[in-house]
Amino acid sequence: MPAASCSATIRVLPGDVVSRIAAGEVIERPAAVVKELIENSLDAGSRHITVDVKDGGITLIRVTDDGDGIRRADLPLAFERHATSKLQSDEDLTSITTMGFRGEALPSIAAVSNVQVVTATRDVSVGAHMTLVGGARQVIADAPPVTGTKVEVSDLFYNQPARKKFLKSVTTEFSHITAVVQQAALAWPSVHFRLTHNGHGVLNHPAVASERDRVLQVYRPAFLDHTIDLRGRMAGCAISGVMTDPVHARSSRIPQDLFVNRRPVRNAAIAHAVTDGYGSFLPKGQHPTYVLFLDIDPERIDVNVHPAKREIRFADQEAIHRFVRQSVRHAFSGVERKVVFGMGTSEDSPAPDTTSVTSFSPEPDMVGRSAGRIENQGAASQVNHDAESLFVREATASYAGSPQIAVIPFGQILRTYLVAQVGQELHVIDQHTAHERVLFQRLWRAWMKRDVVTQPLLIPEPIELTLAQRMLLQKHVGDLEQLGLVIEPFGATAVLLRAVPVDLGPINGALLIQNVLEDLVEWESASSLEARAQSVLATLACKSAVQAGRSMALPEIERLVSDWVGEGLITTCPHGRRTAFRLSPDELDKLFGRVGWS
Ligand code: ADP
Ligand code: MG
Repeated sequence: MPAASCSATIRVLPGDVVSRIAAGEVIERPAAVVKELIENSLDAGSRHITVDVKDGGITLIRVTDDGDGIRRADLPLAFERHATSKLQSDEDLTSITTMGFRGEALPSIAAVSNVQVVTATRDVSVGAHMTLVGGARQVIADAPPVTGTKVEVSDLFYNQPARKKFLKSVTTEFSHITAVVQQAALAWPSVHFRLTHNGHGVLNHPAVASERDRVLQVYRPAFLDHTIDLRGRMAGCAISGVMTDPVHARSSRIPQDLFVNRRPVRNAAIAHAVTDGYGSFLPKGQHPTYVLFLDIDPERIDVNVHPAKREIRFADQEAIHRFVRQSVRHAFSGVERKVVFGMGTSEDSPAPDTTSVTSFSPEPDMVGRSAGRIENQGAASQVNHDAESLFVREATASYAGSPQIAVIPFGQILRTYLVAQVGQELHVIDQHTAHERVLFQRLWRAWMKRDVVTQPLLIPEPIELTLAQRMLLQKHVGDLEQLGLVIEPFGATAVLLRAVPVDLGPINGALLIQNVLEDLVEWESASSLEARAQSVLATLACKSAVQAGRSMALPEIERLVSDWVGEGLITTCPHGRRTAFRLSPDELDKLFGRVGWS
């Protein structure tokens, strides 16, 4: 039984104990000090912020800024608990536009370390220097009138041996500090950030004009090479940033940076919305990486839900979820445009309010030009346009805004890859994954309209199952019918596959059902109806798409490549494998050393 339990009398804790308990919530480790001091510097309008650290921040943390400074008379107050210049009334709490607002950081830091502050406002001829030991103010002395503030925090947790014992190695603590500075830098591209450790420069990010440039400074070009831009807007809310091109998705989740009104936050709903937005573009077991900036009317979020301000709450979480998901989807239609035409995504294109599949509509003159050039080369003339093909016969006109980009098929290599000119680019296309993508897009469109047309199988085959499998199928027989799979019981343990969606290629029913059963097992944990439909439609597309190893003639190749182009040249199959590799005229010129030659 603990020593001080029921029998002890109730007492109000002494002030310094209260301070230290409170400090424990805000200041868990050196990186938290750095975070709070940087936030204060940002709130003071600083353009340059320098963070100098010794021994992972345990010996010393010094943050120097060129912001507004603190008035000499206010200096002691800055270290009082709940003293802040950022809130005037409780109404302000509903629309916070500063990083800080709780008035807790400086007193919390001072309660667990020794602090020195040197500061001057723009209008004074003498600055001020204050020292605090264990939270108690010592003296205020004069200092040079350099506008800005320098806060030096030494001997962190000297009076909290327990907390100090829980600190990790210098390397680990410093890596947390680096992350904090990087996050601040990402959110504030117009501010120059520097970080040194034991006298060595570690980060130096001079001010840049855009978020994208800052991402480049922080994460290096390799990350941006494999990302696509995202941009969306709705009333009271905007999103921008970069995210992984699905072809380059990895199992790593770093970075997954989210900033809401420039505050780095963790938010499961948004993380989920991003993954949902990727939908079938994301390979199983792989994760998107992203740096996203959400700007939202401050009245529609609550930032006061976590002592270290790392979490937020949205007034209308569902609307935000939908908005983020649609913005992510929309970004993919942008990337497909970029692939063919080398155009950037439109700056202010709004996120669509439908869940339309990837589509593109290039500017007419671009299409005209590429078509003209291809005709001059005359290669397309050998192709029999009416050729019978095993591919789907969906009317071309029904593609979402499909333009006719000329396709010149050259042939097939290794009975697996199709080689063709698409517009002005050379493409090598995986026949299976590209066909899979085409079939999936069509099935998906039909399902979204709840209009999957089925076609009875001429000879329905009985498929033997275990009892458990048959029960699972029976449980979902109605849902599967909506997806175009008509199944009925047959004898004690078998089922008959009666019909499949129209216009699929030849299907091995038994294999299909085995795969669908695997999807059904995962249905239990699927987050939405869409996610469920997606898995089964992807299986259908995969099992009926042309396999690698089957030889294909030119007319068939042209048909498949055109179908794939019509669907927006999507670079992954529904399971996330790559569909195509391309070389632009520029890249070809570079390869052959023609750059700069005519
Ligand atoms: P909060 O940031 O929540 O207001 P803090 O304890 O972090 O609380 O800071 C208290 C006050 O001290 C701030 O409201 C601000 O007026 C002042 N202050 C702190 N750091 C700086 C700084 N670097 N430059 C200018 N003013 C500062
Ligand atoms: Mg603060």
